[in-house]
Order: sequence, then structure tokens, then C-alpha cells
Amino acid sequence: MLTAVFATGCGNPAPPTSVTYSATTSSGSTETPQPIVAVFASATPATPITPTRIEMLTATSAPAPARTSSPVPLPTFTPMPMDDLASIATVTASMPVTGATPQPGHIMGLEQARVPILMYHYVSPPPVDADKYRLDLSVKPADFEKQLAYLSENGYSTISLYDLYGRFTLSATLPAKPIILTFDDGYRDAYDYAFPLLKKYGMSGTFFIVSDFINSGNPAYLSWDMVKEMSAAGMDIESHSRTHPDMRNRSVDFLVWQILGPIESITAYTGKRPHFFCYPSGEYDDAVIRVLKSADVWGAVTTQYGALHSLDDAMTWSRIRMRGTTTLQQLAAML
Ligand SMILES: [Zn+2]
Repeated sequence: MLTAVFATGCGNPAPPTSVTYSATTSSGSTETPQPIVAVFASATPATPITPTRIEMLTATSAPAPARTSSPVPLPTFTPMPMDDLASIATVTASMPVTGATPQPGHIMGLEQARVPILMYHYVSPPPVDADKYRLDLSVKPADFEKQLAYLSENGYSTISLYDLYGRFTLSATLPAKPIILTFDDGYRDAYDYAFPLLKKYGMSGTFFIVSDFINSGNPAYLSWDMVKEMSAAGMDIESHSRTHPDMRNRSVDFLVWQILGPIESITAYTGKRPHFFCYPSGEYDDAVIRVLKSADVWGAVTTQYGALHSLDDAMTWSRIRMRGTTTLQQLAAML
């Protein structure tokens, strides 16, 4: 029996306490841990990816066995010996941190686009006993709707991270006033409040979910059924890691476990393979970026403030934090 204790999410004072996993499913059948599969693909963005290297890692140490509940059968790969971990580490270590291949005519690093990426956490009335952190992270639904109305009335169009990435890699045209709305941690209120209001205004959002928070069944978080429904309605479901840890100074094995599992789960449940990542608490190091790139993740968002983005900094795109106290005037000034 293994015990997984969840880390707190983005200053969230009320994460799930602890969840105990056993190797036996509720139906009583023995569950075979899924292997973690790392696909090393070419870094060419937005084009069909040709895998250049396929390896299989068998999780052995620290974290619990890779426990990807997959209603859809995943492709199987030929297992490789464990000492291939070393060669994987070598491959990832040799990969350039900014390795996206530009399209013809693109001048790497010079093309920029100003697209505000708003960062929300809770969109719900904060509980009566909420501390200052929870209050800061909570946008009341009425305020959220006023913000959507403001954006709509002032000509802003919600786009996705895929649209922004395509601006650089495919020279895709963006609307005159593009904006991206992101929601961290996969709280249940995303389904109860944010999702219906986005639909009401004909807008879309990107939801960064923590897969083991969902697996836990904790009612404070989304369920996979909700995730499926939101995805089918046009919302983007992307990864915010498996357990929301500090990802700095970790082994490749740990990072692969945190990064590959959620990608496989989201793919299996939604039928859409995620390609973007949100660093837990905004923390990362070069090893995290290398493993993300090896997992065919195209871009990642931080908690750094800013709205100017390029292909060069796709793994560290900045955002604009939306607080419980953010006024429409403050929002307007930040756009
Ligand atoms: Zn978070």
C-alpha cells in the first residue's frame, strides 16, 4: 500500500489532506501499474511529429507506481532495460532548452506578440473562514462575469495557447485584441462557475489540472466526467503536473512521472493530447524544461508578470494574475 500526500496548490490553504492508494481497485481486481512511456520526438512544432526515439521507463523509485487510469487502451511499446534511463538522461541533457524549429522566414526570437494571458485560480464565493491567501486567489462569480462582459464589450476575443503558438510557427492570424484565460489547479468551481459563464459569453478557457487531485475523488476538485464535458465544449484541458510538487532539483525519473502521467490521463479521458504545461507554483529549472520538451510539450506558463511573448520564450510565457481584489480599472490597465 502506498500513500500519496498532496502538496498544496498555488498557495491554496485547502488541498486534499491525504489519499491512500492501495494496489487493489474498488472492484477488488488487482491493478497493474502502467509503465511510463517517454516519446522523444523532433522539436518541430505544429507539424505532424515524427518520433525519433521511443523508450520505456519503468518507474522504480520514490513516487507511487505510475497509476494512469486509462479508459482507452494506450499503445504498447517494447520494454527497454532500466539502464536506458542513463541514455535518456544523456539525450535530454543534450537537448537545447530553446529548440523549437522556426518556419521558413521566421527570425527566431525577434517576432513577438502581445497577448495577455490571465491567470485565475478560484472563481467562486470564498468560504466564510477564508484566510488572506484564499481571498487573494478567489474571484467572485459576479466579478468574473463583469470581467468577461468588459472584455467582450471592449473587443477582446479569447484564443487558446495553441493559437498563440501557431502565430509564431504557422504565421497564423490572431484577432485584433486576443486574450487567453487560464485557470490553475482544477478546482470544482471551474465547472460550477467559470465554465457556464464562459459559455454564456461565447468564450473559451484553458484549465490546468492536477491529475492526482482528480483521481483522488476529492469534491473540491473537478471529476474526469466534468473534464470530459468541458473539453467537448471547446475548453482546453492542459497539465499542471500529477501532484503539484516543487519541480526544481528533481531526478529525471521524478520529472517523467510528474509530466507523462497527466498527459496520458488527459489524452485518454478527453481524446485530445495536451501540449502545454503550467509549472506548479511557477517554479521550474532547466531539467524540467528538458523533460517537458522530450514529452512533446510545446510551451509552458509561469507566474511571472507580462503579456509579451515569443517562440523563444514559449517554455516560460508570462501571465497576469487575477486577484480577488482586482478591479475592472486595474484589469484594463494591465491589458
Ligand atoms: Zn497551481
